[in-house]
Parts: sequence; structure tokens; C-alpha cells
Amino acid sequence: MEAPGPDEADVILINTCGFINDAKEESIEHILLLLNRKKPCQKVLVFGCLAQRYMREMIEELPEVDGVFGVDSFKEIMDFLSLPDRNRDVSYRRLSYKEDGSSYAYLKIAEGCNRQCTFCIIPSIRGGLKSYAPERILEEAERLVREGVKEIILVAQDITSYGIDTGNYRLERLLRELASIEGDFWIRLLYLYPTMIDDALIETIAEVDKICKYLDIPIQHSEERILRLMGRPGSPELFRRLIKRLRQDIPGVVLRTTVIVGFPSESDEEFSRLLDFIKEMEFDRLGAFKYSPEEGTEACKIKEQIPEEKKQERFHEIMKAQAEISYRKNRDLLNRRFRILIDNVSEDLIAGRYYGQAPEIDGIVIIDNCMSGNIPFSGQSCSENKIKTGEFLDVRITDAYEYDLKAMLL
Ligand code: SF4
Repeated sequence: MEAPGPDEADVILINTCGFINDAKEESIEHILLLLNRKKPCQKVLVFGCLAQRYMREMIEELPEVDGVFGVDSFKEIMDFLSLPDRNRDVSYRRLSYKEDGSSYAYLKIAEGCNRQCTFCIIPSIRGGLKSYAPERILEEAERLVREGVKEIILVAQDITSYGIDTGNYRLERLLRELASIEGDFWIRLLYLYPTMIDDALIETIAEVDKICKYLDIPIQHSEERILRLMGRPGSPELFRRLIKRLRQDIPGVVLRTTVIVGFPSESDEEFSRLLDFIKEMEFDRLGAFKYSPEEGTEACKIKEQIPEEKKQERFHEIMKAQAEISYRKNRDLLNRRFRILIDNVSEDLIAGRYYGQAPEIDGIVIIDNCMSGNIPFSGQSCSENKIKTGEFLDVRITDAYEYDLKAMLL
């Protein structure tokens, strides 16, 4: 049975991430925090990527941890805890993650990755691509919809590779079957590999109403020399063509991308061309990361590492350019009508997202007549009125900022 919090639990399970330095630090901080509060009768188990990568070090340096497990070690953890047989079945493992009361859930459709980006440690930790069976994914999605989830966010290291390891059942078929589940909900797609977006997928996204016209396509860089050093395909020309095609074939599509600045040997000229490319393409959303050398990766061995201050400068330049683009693009939405999904209902704030805003990474739509304790809706305060988390509402955009939007209920 799930305990209400760590203090009441008999066993504390800590899932860790070892992808980049920030995630590693966060995982370690969390482990130390929980170890400090650990009671003598409790067991603390650590698992996941970071635990797999630094298993020996963790066992040696954190003796208070009762067990260290790698990824995919559900069964070993159950054995360690000697839970009854019915709990040992690996199929108990859920493919989705959702916070209590949230209107959205993340649904994992595959594990691992067959690619070899030179900056990335994921394939060596999580192994090659393993797509989950469509029946399992559909069953999980049906359960989520039954439980009231209104947005299912499909995730994997690269969702466009879904099914290439198992046969002909590919992402577009999965999308159509997911969309045929009865109910009023959205499907959002995160992490599409740029060179894997083909005609069939574009057609499906354009045609199926339940799919948010929002695509997160990490390009990582625009320059061919850097892309090749990263072990990734693409060129400015190829990306230009892809973006033009997506905007043409999927009306209203909102595009998000990710770039890495300060990759080893990135020259001032190459960075400046990346900046020009970002300004030219005007992605609706963009996340920039400073290159972080990860032990055990090929990129880490490249001699010409970029000094931290330079990475920081480049990061700021990109983010400043994107803030201007984002502000301009948000202003273009003024007076437009959207259907929003309500995520937050509190005493003085009601907020949601339209299809072009992914939770936790993009901005939100704030209901204008519900700000700062205003008394909306026939004299009731925001939390007293009938609006609930997980509800779809029609709004008109009334104001726009760099990231967030304000709107009036219609
Ligand atoms: S596609 Fe993503 S997960 Fe796979 S190696 Fe490249 S960066 Fe890592």
C-alpha cells in the first residue's frame, strides 16, 4: 500500500536520473535528504539510471542505503522485499506517470534508444529500443481516460522510432488507435526525431482531431559539422524544409525544439549561424542547454571543450533571442479563441493550457477575470465557482507575455 509520505513509509523507493549533471545533483540531494530523515525501521532503496551508472560508488559511499538497483529492476526489488507472488508480476508495472489530481499523465511507449548521439549516456544506461506492446499502451490509456485524465502525453527517448524493433505496428497506427478510445481528451507527442517524421505521420497528426497540433522536435544544432560530431543527422536546409512542410501541412502547428550550446569545438561563427537559424525559423518554443560533458560519452573526449563562461554567454544570447520571438508569437494570439484545459484552480488563480502549451515546460493561460482575488462569476471567489481541474473551457486571449497568456472565459 502506498504511504501518504516518506515519514509513514516502511520502504522508501528513490528513482534516480543520471542524464545530465543537473539531474544527477538533484537525485543525490534527494537521496541525502531522505537518508537524513530515515528511521531505524525504514528501508531506503535507490534505483534508476543514476543508480545503475554509479552502483559501486553508491554502495560504497552511501552505506545507509539498503539496496541499489539499476533500471528495469522491478522484479529484483520485489524479490529483495520478498513481497507476495501476486505483487511480483512485472505487468504490475505501470507505463504512465501522473500526479494526484492532475489533468494530464505521461504515458511511456518505449524504453531505451538505438541511436548514438555522442553527448548522450542514455543508450549505454537504458540499452537499445524496446517498444511496449500496443495492447499494453492502449489498456493503460483507457484506464487513464476512465480515471478522468484529459491529456495523455506520449513519451519515449524518441517516439518516432516506436515499433521499429517489433514489426510493422508504428507510431501512426498507435496514434489512430489511441484516438479511437472514447472520451474527451487530448494526445500530446513529445520528442520526435527530426529525420523520422514521414508523410504517414504528418498526415495522421493533421487528420486526427484528438492529437494536439504541437510537436517537440529536438534538432540540437543547425550546423552540419557540429551535428556530425554529435552523431546526429540533418542540416540547416533539411530542417528548413521540414519546418516549412509541417507548418504548411498541419495548420496552426506549434513547434518546439531543443538546442545544445557550447558543444566541444563549436566556433563563434558556428554559434552565430545557429543563432541566425533560430531567428529565421522562429520556433514557437525553444529550450537551450549548455553542453554538459558526461563521463563515458564520446563527446566528452573531444579536446576542444568550451569554457563555462562562453557556454553561459551563448546560452543567454539564444534565450534572449527566443524570448523576443516567443513574445511576438504570443502577441499574434491576441483576440484568438482557444479551448483550454484547466490545470490549476486555487483561491485567486485559475489557469489552463491551450494545445500549444505542454505542461511543466511551456507557459500557461491565466483566466483574466480570476486574478488577484477578483470576484468573478456572480460574486464567488475563484475556488468557489464551478470550474474544476480537468475541465475544457473556451476562452479568448486578452493579453500576452513572453511565456504566459491571459484570457477571458467565453
Ligand atoms: S536520440 Fe535522444 S536518447 Fe537517443 S542517443 Fe540521441 S539524445 Fe540520447
